[in-house]
Amino acid sequence: MILILLGAPGAGKGTQAQRLQDKHGLVQLSTGDMLRAAVAAGTEVGIEAKSVMERGELVSDEIMTGIISERLDQPDCEKGVILDGFPRTEAQAEALDLMLRDKEMSLNSVIEMKTDDVVLVERVTGRYTCANCGAGYHDSFLKPVEDGVCDKCKGTEFSRRSDDTAETVRSRLQSYHNQTAPLLPYYKGKGILKQVDGMAEIDEVTQQIEALL
Ligand code: AMP
Repeated sequence: MILILLGAPGAGKGTQAQRLQDKHGLVQLSTGDMLRAAVAAGTEVGIEAKSVMERGELVSDEIMTGIISERLDQPDCEKGVILDGFPRTEAQAEALDLMLRDKEMSLNSVIEMKTDDVVLVERVTGRYTCANCGAGYHDSFLKPVEDGVCDKCKGTEFSRRSDDTAETVRSRLQSYHNQTAPLLPYYKGKGILKQVDGMAEIDEVTQQIEALL
């Protein structure tokens, strides 16, 4: 199965993709995570992507389609994948169609996580993750049971993304509306677009997605 989660920054794509991965054995392909790993490793792609990401703009279609095409060839992707953060432009969506045809794979569903921009700024600026296991938390909505201690692994180090500032989130939202939202009619036209309410509680969104699959 190939599934795309489409939504603005902070819509909950990563959270829901992790849950789908755990429950259905699908592989979460987060292009944001891949780029952050490349930045941390100081690779050529990472060096090029770093400043673009810090401005809240989009990395080039050529780099992104290359990364995804290579990743889809890995054997673990045979189980099925959840695309989290890709495609983000019409050029990426068209390139994805072509690469899936070449790889004899097919796209099953595109799930739009509908949200309201005002809430997204608060969601994104308050989020942080456990530096050890990657579990996600939020200053207001999802605090660890014991203050400063990860519920999952008991780690005590946490990190925040450098692009989760109010200013960068606004620019990322603009990129979403200008460049990514046009994908909604693109996939609607193919008859594979579905929607969930991304403003609902995390568990409720999971149930809505499960009902669609
Ligand atoms: P995310 O973790 O999905 O919010 O992505 C973080 C940042 O990585 C974005 O703001 C973009 O700068 C970059 N990025 C991630 N995925 C893509 C993509 N498919 N196309 C272009 N840029 C991307």
